[in-house]
Amino acid sequence: MTGDFRVSVLRLGHRRERDKRITSHLGLTARAFGADEVILAGEEDDSAIETWNSVSERFGGNLDCHFEPKPMNWLRRFAVSGTVIHLTMYGESWRKVTGEIPKDKPAVIVVGGTKVPAELFSIADHNVSIGNQPHSEVAALGVFMDSWLGPIEESSKFAGGQIEVVPSERGKRVVNLEEE
Ligand code: SAM
Repeated sequence: MTGDFRVSVLRLGHRRERDKRITSHLGLTARAFGADEVILAGEEDDSAIETWNSVSERFGGNLDCHFEPKPMNWLRRFAVSGTVIHLTMYGESWRKVTGEIPKDKPAVIVVGGTKVPAELFSIADHNVSIGNQPHSEVAALGVFMDSWLGPIEESSKFAGGQIEVVPSERGKRVVNLEEE
């Protein structure tokens, strides 16, 4: 839980060959910026989910991740009691709306891959742009999550890992937590 509410990220329209790396990075970004769950939709791809689980095992945390064969059905059910945030270049500026998005109930942040269903724009409680230029779902997610959720690095979100990176001015400092 990020604070006292659950944050999920839903990746629509994954294309197993074309989006392999960017979807993998999307899930890692979701995890690093505070998501509790990453949901993959589009073409099924165990490799992305294996990557996310492997990073969680090494660096800690309890990220839930799974493939969702019917994402729009899932979203319709979720929207009954949760907040749906759709990141799109067509939306309202994140600088303007992020402060209005509630942080007291479960939320899902939705990003596209291939063209997203038009219905998503009406299901979403918030259609949010990170600028109105086309760029990347990974960049959009990272900027939005950091702006909306704030600092994660100090939280206990990543407890239970095998290793921990210690911030340092230069070089790499990694603590093996299993030797502690
Ligand atoms: N081809 C797809 C379409 O036309 O719907 C979108 C491709 S875009 C690279 C993939 C995703 O990145 C979008 O669905 C959106 O979630 C996100 N994205 C790209 N630029 C964005 C922006 N300026 N603000 C917010 N999200 C953005």
